[in-house]
Amino acid sequence: MSANSQDPGTRERVWRSPWRSQVPFPGLAYCVGGRSLYWGGWSPRLTAADLSRWPADIATFLQAAPGSFDGYQQVEKEIGVWDKTDYISGPLFAELKTKMVGVKGSVPTVDDIEDAPLAVQASPPASGLFSFDKYSSAPILIDAIREASGAPDWRRRLFLVPRAHVIRLSTSGGVVNQIEVDANGQRKFLTIDPTCAVVLANGTIEATRLALESFPTPLMGRNLMAHLRSNTIVRIKRAAFAPSLPKQLEAAALLVRGSTPQGRYHLQVTAAAVLGPNSEKDMFQMIPDVELLDSTLASQDADWSGNPDPTQPKATGAPPSWIDLSPDQTDEFSMRRAWVNLVKSANEDLLWRAMDDAAIALAQKLAGAPSNIQYFYNKDASLNAPGATWHADPPPPSTSNNRDDPANKVRDGLGTTHHEAGTLWMGTDPNTSVTNLTGRFHRIANAYAAGPAVFPTLGSANPSLTALSLSRRTALAITSRLLDVESDFTTIGSGGLRDWQMAGSGGFIELGANIIESVD
Ligand SMILES: Cc1cc2nc3c(=O)[nH]c(=O)nc-3n(C[C@H](O)[C@H](O)[C@H](O)COP(=O)(O)OP(=O)(O)OC[C@H]3O[C@@H](n4cnc5c(N)ncnc54)[C@H](O)[C@@H]3O)c2cc1C
Repeated sequence: MSANSQDPGTRERVWRSPWRSQVPFPGLAYCVGGRSLYWGGWSPRLTAADLSRWPADIATFLQAAPGSFDGYQQVEKEIGVWDKTDYISGPLFAELKTKMVGVKGSVPTVDDIEDAPLAVQASPPASGLFSFDKYSSAPILIDAIREASGAPDWRRRLFLVPRAHVIRLSTSGGVVNQIEVDANGQRKFLTIDPTCAVVLANGTIEATRLALESFPTPLMGRNLMAHLRSNTIVRIKRAAFAPSLPKQLEAAALLVRGSTPQGRYHLQVTAAAVLGPNSEKDMFQMIPDVELLDSTLASQDADWSGNPDPTQPKATGAPPSWIDLSPDQTDEFSMRRAWVNLVKSANEDLLWRAMDDAAIALAQKLAGAPSNIQYFYNKDASLNAPGATWHADPPPPSTSNNRDDPANKVRDGLGTTHHEAGTLWMGTDPNTSVTNLTGRFHRIANAYAAGPAVFPTLGSANPSLTALSLSRRTALAITSRLLDVESDFTTIGSGGLRDWQMAGSGGFIELGANIIESVD
């Protein structure tokens, strides 16, 4: 870049696509916090049906009996999903939910209507504190690093190595003993003590590539899964809603769950007063800005409510998709790139069609009459071509998911959802799974994987809530292992500092479910 006019913008400097595939992928965000800086915040739980092929221990950990505190609930509180209505509420939300519940029985594949599980904590956790807003791992990590940096290096528990790219892990006798890394352009070799745990958390595809490069097994890279996504955009006249709705338009969101014999889907329904057709962009990807708020409110068309109302169906199955190491493509560190083979099956095509149809059918039921609804799409050209506008007829069913194909009116490409998962899946048997139930590689004593890579199946739910819940479990397993006790040891507490009273000076800290003496 030699002039300001050539500035590619932050996004272009952050995003890179390290792997190769027959379908386009947006790649990874190479920054602290990764894609959690960009994500939409949708955090639905996997349902009992989604978890039916998961190891029973994990399914129970995630989703215990209703009313009891389970793995999901803990993370839902941490990332702001709970309370679900502190961010989305108000008369439009209430009206939309009532109407949706009222019409759900008339769309055959729809099973349930739920409050939108968004990872946004909109109200302050206590008086005098700011709210946490949308969750990202970056602020928490930076906060912890700032706190740790107060101590001299020999006492610090947490370091961030900037501009570092892990290249390979070396093993000896089933233990990782060295990390090869490019740090700020220099190749370094970091010796790892056998009691140290190494966690691969660099995205599903890159974590799998690193594992294949470092300690391959024949199963690694199989079981690749992703979601199928469409974006159906409609606007519905205010006449279809209660006359008591306030004049000013509001944002509302709901989750719709559905199923067919081919699998399950969900619709992320968002309705908002927005400047263009992308309500998600203005809702929870927006940095609040008073001028934008003014122009958004000024742009509202009082005859149309929920303007527009995109629904984003998603579904999954388990197509024969996989990752391996490319024989002829290398990256800037001279390492083999991942080759990603992502395909969909005929059954998944049927499910995709059922989702698209359900989105239109639900919107029509909400509108009540054809004169109350319009659909946003490009009648004569492809999704990528300019010219999309409002139409009285629904988009014809899409027979393609190529954005350059005029036969595709609503569908995204297979590689675009950022929900790739499954290639280092968990299980109890080393012959049929890659990692154990704590996320540790079966044949490596001190290496773990964290993220959607460890999912046995993907189900119809955005992956982050489940990935975070399992990562928390992995972290606990690592810290507990380091604090191993004799077999005849019995605990005198339930873990944690609760119920203990301090006597004298000194201090203790909680680590996982343990109390350890603090050095301070
Ligand atoms: C626009 C957008 C919207 C999304 N919306 C949702 C949503 O609503 N709900 C949901 O559940 N999910 C959503 N996702 C997906 C979600 O963000 C990802 O599933 C999640 O971030 C994956 O987490 P991860 O830790 O596995 O990978 P990432 O978040 O990609 O993190 C990987 C990290 O590893 C680093 N890294 C990569 N390679 C190396 C290496 N060799 N050495 C060192 N570091 C490395 C990267 O810099 C990055 O920091 C969305 C994603 C995007 C982009």
